[in-house]
Amino acid sequence: MKLEVGDIITTKKPHPCKSNQFEIVRKGADFKMRCLGCDKEIWITREKLEKRVRKINGEKP
Ligand SMILES: [Zn+2]
Repeated sequence: MKLEVGDIITTKKPHPCKSNQFEIVRKGADFKMRCLGCDKEIWITREKLEKRVRKINGEKP
């Protein structure tokens, strides 16, 4: 799965704030994603992230 910083992803499970859109903000062994609903940043492993992604919406316009 190709995930880049700046990509907006839709996750299968929504965040507690009900948004299911996140922006990738850091890439590495672990990824950091920012919830577009509440601006909270979450560290997540690539493995977990790939399981959560429903689709990649591409870069933020
Ligand atoms: Zn949120």
